[in-house]
Amino acid sequence: MTQVSNQKRGWIGWALFADLGDALWLTLSYMFSRTVTLQYPDKEKWSPYPRYRGQHFLKRDDEGEIKCVACELCAKICPCDCIIVIPYEDDKGERRPEIFEIDMARCLFCGLCEDACPVDAIALGQMYELSSYSSEELVVGRDALLEMPGKTEAGGSVVPARLNTENGVQVEARAEEGYNWWRNIRRR
Ligand code: SF4
Ligand code: SF4
Repeated sequence: MTQVSNQKRGWIGWALFADLGDALWLTLSYMFSRTVTLQYPDKEKWSPYPRYRGQHFLKRDDEGEIKCVACELCAKICPCDCIIVIPYEDDKGERRPEIFEIDMARCLFCGLCEDACPVDAIALGQMYELSSYSSEELVVGRDALLEMPGKTEAGGSVVPARLNTENGVQVEARAEEGYNWWRNIRRR
């Protein structure tokens, strides 16, 4: 918008330092606008959008079976070589992952594994609290991946939360819906 208005101003705007005036006005308007501080982790938590690429999760089919057929395509396409898949044949003769591990310390959250999966068995979800004192704890196995939260339905809001240090350190969301954080950002 500024670029368009400057084009309209032409050489007069250039001579009168209109760009400089715009920039100063923007700075001043932010100085007196509402403070934007997310009260994380004590009181609030960001709920990411569905397109957000956080911690992976593995999906189950309608019968509750793991969808993964252990084809290893995700492991092959991963640029960080951080997925290990070792297949086995189950009682029904289906190919399934005996071992499915992702080393989150190496992952760059590119989403290629999700794109490559032929049966929509893996995806990157909403979980972004992955810190750990030990890199070994960042290797996540099949069963843990099946329990991970999926993608958010809506997301893009700030929800009330509580810091829970009783079992590790977790920030628990206390509501499904919150307020739109972007409403606090001054825009023209
Ligand atoms: S998101 Fe990218 S880097 Fe991470 S496991 Fe998947 S393919 Fe590998
Ligand atoms: S998650 Fe998908 S791509 Fe990866 S091994 Fe399983 S079926 Fe193949």
